[in-house]
Amino acid sequence: MNEPFRDELDQLRARSLLRHLHEIGSAQGPSVELVGQHLVNFSSNDYLGLAADQRLRAAATHAIEQFGVGAGASRLVSGTQSPHVALERAIAKWKNLPAAIAFNSGYAAAVGTLPAVAGKNDVIVLDKLAHASLVDGARLSGASLRIFPHNHLGKLESHLEWARREKPQARVIVVTESVFSMDGDRAPLREIVELKSRFQALLLLDEAHAVGVLGASGCGLVAEEKLSADVQMGTLSKALGAAGGYICGSASLIEWLTNRARSFIYSTAPPAAVAAAAIAAIEFLQRPEGEDRRRALWKNIELLHQLLVSQTNRKPESAIFPFVIGQENDAMSFACALQKEGFFVPAIRYPSVPRGSARLRITLTAAHTESQIRALVDSIRRLQPIIRGSLTPLSNAKAEKG
Ligand SMILES: *Cc1c(COP(=O)(O)O)cnc(C)c1O
Repeated sequence: MNEPFRDELDQLRARSLLRHLHEIGSAQGPSVELVGQHLVNFSSNDYLGLAADQRLRAAATHAIEQFGVGAGASRLVSGTQSPHVALERAIAKWKNLPAAIAFNSGYAAAVGTLPAVAGKNDVIVLDKLAHASLVDGARLSGASLRIFPHNHLGKLESHLEWARREKPQARVIVVTESVFSMDGDRAPLREIVELKSRFQALLLLDEAHAVGVLGASGCGLVAEEKLSADVQMGTLSKALGAAGGYICGSASLIEWLTNRARSFIYSTAPPAAVAAAAIAAIEFLQRPEGEDRRRALWKNIELLHQLLVSQTNRKPESAIFPFVIGQENDAMSFACALQKEGFFVPAIRYPSVPRGSARLRITLTAAHTESQIRALVDSIRRLQPIIRGSLTPLSNAKAEKG
């Protein structure tokens, strides 16, 4: 008798799509210990190098002393401890919005929020490259889904026209990201805000990869472009170096989510220590040191852009640099070859990206040194012709707009 899932796993392996875990025996940072190998780490979303920062460690340790580890119950029962309340106030103040609600993760924020704000009579209009958490949340809501090609304003507009014509009573929600997680490019936010206003739709904007990286105090693309979004989503687990997700917006939106977001209601509150660490990160971002850290990140971004993508006169848009290779096995070979040279750069494959667009995804942090970045580029240049004759490096400004 065949062991269940064995055939399926063999098929994944044959297509170079099998995934496995890499065990890291150290704190996160610009270099990590991977089972006996010391690697320069270009795989993490710890953009500001806060994940192992002394201030966050101290805040978490202090909170553990005071509040213990487990929260004991869901937020609405008896799991709301003072750091949870302080965190939500800190997020709202930092974002300059009336209220915020914190979730166990960004994933939980998405799958809790979309079904709370849209139901089967409503319409969700989603960018094709939106993160899996947004896709799952949209599906779970039961709303009619309309997908527009990545950043395609014309198709977005026709979906909004369709929604207004066919479903005049529906709530219509446009869902997109400010910085796209696998391509590193930005949404044309001004035009999207203009369209959603014209069609009286709401905008849910996921700032997961923009927070800490863009805008004054690392507040995200909304801040950088001086715009607004009805439902602002983000994560505390990337640039903020802690864990958890949040939604920010009007007081009634947040009260509604407190009453209706199932991932918030039916899950035990995260440890108070994690909330305390996130507060320390938000405070750091708003101090001059936070601005310095962001400038250091952008200096690294400019350097890698200049070394790897410079042919175009486009500007880098984020800390994410996809290096599109195409075939899954080629991307895997390239990642393995880089690992042998001491670099941890993940090969991103289907289903995280479309089939046949496998890529190396290089992420930079403020904590990388210039020599680490130069050494990575030297290795890529040296390995490129060996792995595959012609590669098309995709600048993080590549995707066509509008
Ligand atoms: C990482 C990510 C999430 C999920 O956030 P977690 O806190 O890691 O669960 C949501 N949206 C986007 C765009 C992301 O990149």
